[in-house]
Amino acid sequence: MDTCIFCKIINKEIPARIVYEDEHILAFEDIKPQAPIHILLIPKDHFASLNALPEDKQHLVGHIFTKARDIASEKGIKDRGYRIVLNTEKDSGQEVFHIHFHLFGGRPMTWPPG
Ligand code: AMP
Ligand code: ZN
Repeated sequence: MDTCIFCKIINKEIPARIVYEDEHILAFEDIKPQAPIHILLIPKDHFASLNALPEDKQHLVGHIFTKARDIASEKGIKDRGYRIVLNTEKDSGQEVFHIHFHLFGGRPMTWPPG
């Protein structure tokens, strides 16, 4: 998508601090971190939200989750714990409409979420 900010990051049209990349997904540091570790993981194909993800692309979600776990391990927070968040549409607070998973860690998290 030409106007999507995350597609522009994928296409290297705007900079990001990339943590991991392969053929299917990209992980990069959030520009406005809400925790000492705050990384976004996205599929390279554009889907506006979980609601737009077709059944035949569901493997991407598993790939992103296992890679988020691996990144948590590399960052040294796997055992103390971390949180993965997927905001979907308006009530969740989703602001960027290219599906993305937040990986948060490095501090205790509160519950319930706001
Ligand atoms: P959400 O509210 O779930 O849509 O989260 C969007 C996230 O994208 C926010 O945490 C933003 O700080 C982050 N974000 C927006 N623009 C950029 C960017 N250019 N590089 C990295 N993170 C970004
Ligand atoms: Zn996009």
